[in-house]
Amino acid sequence: MNSLNTYRLSEFHPFSGAGHEYLYLVPSGAIFALDNLSSAIINRLTEGECGKEELVSNLTAQGFTPADVEEAIEELYQSHAIANGNGFPSEIQKPPMPFPLQTLVLNVTNQCNLSCKYCYEFGEDRVATPEGKPKFMSEETAQAAVDFLLANSPGRRAVNLTFFGGETLMNFKVVRSTIEYAREQAHAAGKYIDFSLTTNATLLTPPVIEYLAENRVGITISIDGPKELNDKLRVFSNGQGSYEMIAPKVKELLAKHKSRPIGARVTLTSQVVDVKGIFRHLKDELGFYEVGFAPVTTSPVRLYAIGNDGLNNVLEQFTELAYEYLEYALRGEHHGFSNVNDTLQELHAGVSKSHPCGAGLGLLGVAPSGDIAPCHRFVDSDTHKLGHLSTGVDHDVQADFLERGGIHRKPECHTCWARPVCSGGCYHEAYVRYGDTGHANLHYCDWIRGWTHVCLQIYGEIAARNPKFLEHFDERRQ
Ligand code: SF4
Ligand code: SF4
Repeated sequence: MNSLNTYRLSEFHPFSGAGHEYLYLVPSGAIFALDNLSSAIINRLTEGECGKEELVSNLTAQGFTPADVEEAIEELYQSHAIANGNGFPSEIQKPPMPFPLQTLVLNVTNQCNLSCKYCYEFGEDRVATPEGKPKFMSEETAQAAVDFLLANSPGRRAVNLTFFGGETLMNFKVVRSTIEYAREQAHAAGKYIDFSLTTNATLLTPPVIEYLAENRVGITISIDGPKELNDKLRVFSNGQGSYEMIAPKVKELLAKHKSRPIGARVTLTSQVVDVKGIFRHLKDELGFYEVGFAPVTTSPVRLYAIGNDGLNNVLEQFTELAYEYLEYALRGEHHGFSNVNDTLQELHAGVSKSHPCGAGLGLLGVAPSGDIAPCHRFVDSDTHKLGHLSTGVDHDVQADFLERGGIHRKPECHTCWARPVCSGGCYHEAYVRYGDTGHANLHYCDWIRGWTHVCLQIYGEIAARNPKFLEHFDERRQ
């Protein structure tokens, strides 16, 4: 029984919010709200495939009119929630090449004045091979990077330049001159250029803060919470914690830099997992606009690696904070837990990723030497070099990187309902864990699926109870 008039369930993940039933459609990434009739059709097909006539007669016996049932079947079919004998082509669209650049991350130095024990750049799991290469990016290299960004972003009206390190502010002179150069060149090219920067806050001074505020530079501060948590791993080379030094500087930054919202970025480790306590400290006591968390990227054998129990604990705390976010959203207020905001943004946009992230596509990293890498985490790595500013991207190497990282090459992911948002996860994490950027990050599948399910429920609640709140995700996209 496999004809055009025989229907079966397609691929989806069901969830509910505020008493409403929804389907998260896979692989399209769309969200379908079920009413009583479409819910009854799904329930009937859950028992097994069914001919159209039988389906209509089953549903009319439940009190629905035949015309309504036929219309609902067609709507579910058009949305790919149900399929007939033909099924649907499930081929994932590959990105067009060459792909226009959106964001260039300049690692203006590979040097750092802290010795954070989990550092992916200098720590035990580092992929960089910086020996014999420049430690600081020169003004000429940074300007060549700006030219590269503008020349390789055809069709984009706005592009992003992000400054990164090492510790970014150890090369503030180049940050400053590059911003000025980039603004002039972008203006001449008829583009808007946005600037952002990540720093450990140790080198923030009143003039630096004033410059960053005046120039509307978006700032992310790497900080792991209150002193007792931050200082476990974010330390100077003599082992001394960094909190006492950075806290007053962060307060000054937050008081004086009002032109852009400022975020904190927390690395969770086996020793730093108090998500809610850290959030409260950074948001309420220090005054960050938003706080984002990421489990440390490391080999599982490191002492600071988070094991499965730790990840379950983190998911529980993420869930509690996400429901707190929901309460704020229902009142139309900003909450500041950026992980839930970012996932809701993707769900709202209906993303269905062929690749886990923009690395090697719309996003590239540049080392102080001018070497081009898939993203900031791979700079200075000979193994992952995609080209050089002087010669551009080697398209064969780039194509190989993207081919290996595509979802179509990850068989373990092909039956996973979370693949529209995950697509196998971070290439850098995959390389550190499995020695292959194209390997699916199978160690955190439960985490990804658990977190995506929580965010779907939050999305469903907001969609049912305060849909206007979702409009700010449209604004963020523009
Ligand atoms: S890595 Fe795991 S969670 Fe992500 S798409 Fe693959 S199977 Fe799903
Ligand atoms: S590879 Fe990982 S670190 Fe790099 S941009 Fe993608 S998600 Fe981020």
